[in-house]
Amino acid sequence: GAANIGVVGLAVMGSNLARNLASREGNTVAVFNRSRAKTDELVQTHPEAGFLPAFSYEEFAANLQKPRTAIIMVKAGRPTDAVIDELMRVFEPGDIIVDGGNSLFTDTIRREKAVREAGFNFVGMGVSGGEEGALLGPSLMPGGPDESWVTLGPILKSIAAVAEGEPCVTHVGHDGAGHFVKMVHNGIEYADMQLIAEAYDLIRRGTGKSPAEIADIFAEWNRGELESYLIEITAEVLRQTDAVTGQPLVDVIVDQAGAKGTGAWTVQTALDLGVPVSGIAEAVFARSLSSHREQRDVSGSLPGPDDAAFTVEDADAFIEQVRLALYASKIVAYSQGFDEIRAGAAQYGWNIDLGAVSKIWRGGCIIRAQFLNRIADAYAAEAELPVLLTAPYFVEALGRAQDAWRHIVQVAAGAGIPAPAFSSSLSYYDGLRAERLPAALIQGQRDFFGAHTYKRIDTDGTFHTLWSGDRSEVEAEDTH
Ligand code: NDP
Repeated sequence: GAANIGVVGLAVMGSNLARNLASREGNTVAVFNRSRAKTDELVQTHPEAGFLPAFSYEEFAANLQKPRTAIIMVKAGRPTDAVIDELMRVFEPGDIIVDGGNSLFTDTIRREKAVREAGFNFVGMGVSGGEEGALLGPSLMPGGPDESWVTLGPILKSIAAVAEGEPCVTHVGHDGAGHFVKMVHNGIEYADMQLIAEAYDLIRRGTGKSPAEIADIFAEWNRGELESYLIEITAEVLRQTDAVTGQPLVDVIVDQAGAKGTGAWTVQTALDLGVPVSGIAEAVFARSLSSHREQRDVSGSLPGPDDAAFTVEDADAFIEQVRLALYASKIVAYSQGFDEIRAGAAQYGWNIDLGAVSKIWRGGCIIRAQFLNRIADAYAAEAELPVLLTAPYFVEALGRAQDAWRHIVQVAAGAGIPAPAFSSSLSYYDGLRAERLPAALIQGQRDFFGAHTYKRIDTDGTFHTLWSGDRSEVEAEDTH
C-alpha cells in the first residue's frame, strides 16, 4: 500500500481530519466509510488531497503501508466496536488502530486490552475542536501504549493545533487516559459555558443592557485575563440579529440546552472517584433543568422575592464584579477538573503530566484560553499540587475576586436569579477554606443510626458511642 495513514468514518469529523492529514507534507491518506456515498463525495470534492479511497475493509488494508495506522472517526459505542472488529480481521499484528471518537474511557480500557491480546496496538484518542478543529488543527489527547506514540507522535504533531509554537498533542498516558482527559475537558467546557451564561443573565437583568451591548462587554473581557475562545464566541452570538424578526438571535432561540452526554460522564465518573466537581455538576444539571419545560413554572405561580425589580445603581461597577465572580468560579471549575484527572490517574494507574494537559488545551479545543498558561505554570512549580487553586497565582486571583464574587452570589439570591455555578463554586471554595466542617455532625449522625464510628481530634483510634445504651464511648474496631 502507498498510504502512511488511514481514516475510517467520513462524516464531518473524519473527512475534515482526513483533509487535515492530507494537507501535511509527506502524508498519503487512505479513506474508507461504511456507506459508499460519503467516500465518493469526499474524494470528488477534494481532488487536491490525493486520497486513496477504498470500498471494502480489505481494499482499505491493502492501501496502507505496514505497520498500518488507521484512525477511526465513527459514532461512539457499538459502531466503534464494529469497525475495530473489521480492522482486526483485515489488519496484521503490529498495526495500529486509533479510535478518535468520543468514546467512554472505560470502553477504551476494555478495547485496548482485547485489541492488544490479539497482537495489535490500540490507541484511544480524544479529539477536541469540532469540525473546524479537525480540519485546521485540533487538540489531540492520545492514550495507548508507548510504542504506538513513536509512530503516531510525528503524524499527530503535524496536524494538531499550535499554541505559542508548541503542537497541542501529548501522549497523555496508557489505555483510557486520553479519552478520560477528553471527557474532563468536556466537563470543564460545560462549566465554562454555564458560568458565562450566568454572567450574561445577571448583567442583562441587572443593567437592562441589550445583547449587542453585552457583546461589547464580552469582547472587552476577551482582551484581559478571561481571554478565551468561549468568551470570544459569546460576543459573536450575542451580537447576532435574527434575520426573520430583527430581534437579537439569543431572544429567538428556545431556552433549553441540549447535551450529548460527555458532561454527564464527567460527573458520573467523579462521583465514582469521590471527587467534588460541583461546578461541573451544576452546569450539567442546569442544562437538564432548562430542558424540562413541562416542570418549569410557566404560569409564574412559584413565589419569588418581594422586590422583584432588580436594577443595579452603578452598572460599570456591577459588570466588573460579575467579571471577577466569573473568573473566580472559572478557577474553581478548572481546579475541580484537574482534581478529577489527578484522581483518575491514581485510580487507573496512569502517569499523567497535568501541566502538559493544560498546555495541549491552549489551542484547537473549545476551552482554549490564555488562562491555561497559568495552570501550566502552577504545575511546573509544583507537579504534585494537591488542589490547583491553592497555587500562589490563583490564591492571589481569588483573593482579589472574592469580595465581588460573594456580592454577586448575594445579589443573585436576593433578586431570585439562578446562579447555580457561581454559588456552588463559592461554596466549594469556602468548604476548602473552612477550618472545621459540619462533617463532624454527619459522622455523629452516622454513628448514631449505623454504628459507623468516628475518629477523635485528640487521640488516635476509632470510637463509637453506645447511643441506645448508656451513651458512654467505647473504642471500636477500625472499619476501614
Ligand atoms: P457521527 O458521530 O455522526 O458518526 C457518523 C459516522 O459513523 C459515519 O461515517 C457512519 O457511517 C459511521 N458509522 C455509524 N455506524 C457505523 C457502523 N456500525 N459501522 C461503521 N461505521 C458506522 O460523526 P461525526 O463526524 O460527528 O463524529 C465522529 C466521532 O467523532 C464521534 O465519535 C464523535 O463523538 C466524535 N467527535 C465529534 C465532534 C464533533 O464536533 N462533531 C468533536 C469531537 C469528537 P455511514 O456514513 O455509513 O453511516
